[in-house]
Amino acid sequence: MLVFKFGGASVKTSGGILNLAHIVESFKEPLVIVVSAFGKTTNSLEKIHDQAYKKESFDAEFSSLKEYHFTILKELFQQEKHPAFAEISGEFEKLKKILLNPEKGGYDQEYDQIVSFGEVLSTKIISTFLNERGIKNRWADIRKCLKTDSTWREGVVDWETSTKLIKEDFNLKKDKITITQGFLGFNDQGHTVTLGREGSDYSAAILAHILDAEKVVIWKDVPGVLNADPKYFDNTVRLGQLSYLDAIELAYYGASVIHPKTIKPLQNKGIKLHVKSFVYPNDPGTLIGDVQYESLIPSFIFKMDQVLVHISPRDFSFIAEANLTDIFEAFARHGIRINLMQNSAVSFMALVNNRMERIEELKAELEKQFEVSFETGLELVTIRYYDTATIDRVMINKVLLLEQKNQRTIQMVVKDLG
Ligand code: ASP
Ligand code: MG
Repeated sequence: MLVFKFGGASVKTSGGILNLAHIVESFKEPLVIVVSAFGKTTNSLEKIHDQAYKKESFDAEFSSLKEYHFTILKELFQQEKHPAFAEISGEFEKLKKILLNPEKGGYDQEYDQIVSFGEVLSTKIISTFLNERGIKNRWADIRKCLKTDSTWREGVVDWETSTKLIKEDFNLKKDKITITQGFLGFNDQGHTVTLGREGSDYSAAILAHILDAEKVVIWKDVPGVLNADPKYFDNTVRLGQLSYLDAIELAYYGASVIHPKTIKPLQNKGIKLHVKSFVYPNDPGTLIGDVQYESLIPSFIFKMDQVLVHISPRDFSFIAEANLTDIFEAFARHGIRINLMQNSAVSFMALVNNRMERIEELKAELEKQFEVSFETGLELVTIRYYDTATIDRVMINKVLLLEQKNQRTIQMVVKDLG
């Protein structure tokens, strides 16, 4: 059995969905297909939620999202009497109801109830379309199988319950193809909980682990895992193979091809992950698994718009365990993730993403005890399998503020001189 995952970029048009159909048709094995929301639907739903929450008008964004889905429907099912139109219309009605009468659970709980519509819409459309074309499949509602806790927007999977429910619901002997939603789960009150942005890869890995898949294939708009983001680099190279460890490290440092949580559930059962191009499905892509090698060509990961926070005790004490405990607790309380940190005798530095409201709150809190300042507009450059030539290449026109390295990886905080 194989698990396929199609991301938003691969199903952003009716042409993409036709392409998905061609790919699916060419496989004989039983398939579980995990699909994200079409194109930029999740961003659009985030905006609609935000507007509704602030009691602003969400009509314009809502209409354009609806129209986007109906354009795809019209292109897929020529005749407007097709039941798919009524079904999708019904989903938009449900969405509107929730927007107008939200549960009283707060911003993040509502976010999950609203933003989850993207995957429900995309999977319903694709499942119906494939059935229509004779590619028989079952639409599975992952909101009844993948159990999480109630950490809204970042649900933590309850593996025991999910294993039981997924094994009951997914019948691979009976259904050759099962189509389900990425990114979604549910809590013990039956509310939808999302798994974090770009979480559909993780959903595919969870299903593969529980159902003992042979392999997961992530179909992407790039030829595989590249050694750098083509946005920042001209001569990118596809990595043919990657060890689980390298894949985890690259994803963790911010390579955007795979969600960092994806690898572990696969590695624990030795399930391979194949990242392939949906445009050229016969090309080799990148195979991630239990592979051995001495080293790889250097890979580059850039994180832009970074903020370096400097913290030093007001009372001239040293940065020691007690201070660090207070500092880390404050970062956790304000939901600020540290991308890199360093301490000296009298100061602590942390590099974080630019979420200014949170940083200002953190600063206000820590200032009771510490001197706090920050520097914005920085970049974090990570090179895995670095060498001098590659470091020189990325340092052109940049000033180095901070550097950390181990045997395989170097991380540099730099300021661009423009
Ligand atoms: N649709 C969700 C997002 O855009 C999940 C995913 O695409 O993986 O974040
Ligand atoms: Mg997406």
